[in-house]
Amino acid sequence: MSSGKMFIDGQWLMSKSGKTRELYNPSNGQLLGSVSEGNAEDAGMAVDAASNAFTAWRRTSPAQRAALLNEAARLVDMRAEEIAQTECANSGRLLRVCISDVATVSKAFRFFAGIIDIPSGQTFNGAANVTTINIREPIGVCGLIIPWNAPINIASKCIAPALAAGNTIVLKPSSMTPLATIMIVECLEQAGFPKGVVNLVLGSGEVIGTELGQNEKLGKVTLTGGTETGRSLIRASASNIKKLSLELGGKSAIMVFDDADIDLAIDNIMFIIFSSAGQLCVAGTRILVQDGIYTEFCRRLVERVNKIRVGPSNLPDTEMGPVISQAQLKRICNYIEIGKREGATLAAGGNVLTGGIYERGNYVAPTIFTDCGSDMRISREEIFGPVLAVAKFTDEQEAFDIANDSIYGLGAGIYTKDSARSWRFAKEVKAACMWVNTYGTSAGWGSPISCLKQSGYSTLLGVEGLEAYMDIKQISFSNSPAKFDWFKG
Ligand code: NDP
Repeated sequence: MSSGKMFIDGQWLMSKSGKTRELYNPSNGQLLGSVSEGNAEDAGMAVDAASNAFTAWRRTSPAQRAALLNEAARLVDMRAEEIAQTECANSGRLLRVCISDVATVSKAFRFFAGIIDIPSGQTFNGAANVTTINIREPIGVCGLIIPWNAPINIASKCIAPALAAGNTIVLKPSSMTPLATIMIVECLEQAGFPKGVVNLVLGSGEVIGTELGQNEKLGKVTLTGGTETGRSLIRASASNIKKLSLELGGKSAIMVFDDADIDLAIDNIMFIIFSSAGQLCVAGTRILVQDGIYTEFCRRLVERVNKIRVGPSNLPDTEMGPVISQAQLKRICNYIEIGKREGATLAAGGNVLTGGIYERGNYVAPTIFTDCGSDMRISREEIFGPVLAVAKFTDEQEAFDIANDSIYGLGAGIYTKDSARSWRFAKEVKAACMWVNTYGTSAGWGSPISCLKQSGYSTLLGVEGLEAYMDIKQISFSNSPAKFDWFKG
């Protein structure tokens, strides 16, 4: 068993340096334990192990890989409660969300096991007497860098397609939230993946992430994280021009028109921002409301948000939990001060919650700024906390223009009864995931998602999400070999 160790070449190991890192529960500041703090040398060992294992692993049949993934899914399901409790304590995600995250992990393993043999080649007859085929092959060693906001959920959507496609992996969870991910790796080990195919390195992103970016034995790195981290990884990966999948930040706009069902819009908006304490990449954090309903919408939104039950993430009636760390709490509070200075109206929250059930936890009250200008920093920058910026618009074009006036292109939503308008929204607004009269609802596993603008470049889920972990080779066969006869001498 792991006891906070790293998993390299089939063995659970402490860091070469012997260093450890303490982890705390964001809900109450309790020490959860300590884990190995790896360094570049440990990461290098993991990459070497993955590189050595690749030759045999890439030759396994899809059926063998599918069987191992299905077995890992079974083992995850068997440990579901323990994994969910650990994820909840380590990440501060609500327990009921963590229970569904564990189901997501086993579903991800089963989904990619199920579509493992769908990626296909193509045949072309582009030249006389030559038939060309394209085949897909695994890339090699893939580094998977995972954030803290939905650790096992996101990790599983990277691990499963990478392994299903025949790659070996070096997994790096956020240094703040590795505990449940360690359990997932234990399940993969127990399922019987050959040594070196799955490796886990623990430690800081600056050190391990940079090493994975630079190490020339990796063929691909997938990063889910902030846009600045993405930029830094692009620079590090230049060493060997490795492939990158970047799933980065967002500042998604939700527009609510005069003809919208206001109750529905408020319910959906509150869910998507506050149920995760704002720590969701696709959260709608810019709310644009048409002038005819603006005052009424804001009044009803503030009234409901003031009733949100904030508390420890393991309690069943908690509706919004803590934020991940004291550092993140300070960052959010700094943005709240910026919002006040910029002249937005603080309509709800804006304060840190302390005392009683909040003692030693990281709690920020659900916060709403109204009358936000689209040039304010709170309207433009990703806060990644429970802070909504609400602004007014007059007509459709203005709403679309404000929505598009962002470096990000992750999510967008519209609430209207006008179906022609919702089609114009779909065509005119640039975002990877768009919702009409709903927001954040899952489209299932078959529908691929591609990040746009500075939210990154990658394809997640669907058959395309599996193909993102494969190279394409073009092979031409002559059925009538002939010389070119170019040189006459
Ligand atoms: P970070 O970018 O800070 O960290 C993400 C991961 O990258 C962590 O494992 C981190 O390690 C690592 N890392 C940090 N620095 C480097 C580096 N220089 N090189 C390589 N890796 C590094 O993001 P957060 O963890 O704060 O997560 C929140 C961000 O993730 C938000 O911007 C959010 O929008 C985005 N996100 C995007 C999603 C999407 O699908 N588009 C989904 C979920 C989140 P360590 O933690 O040890 O520092």
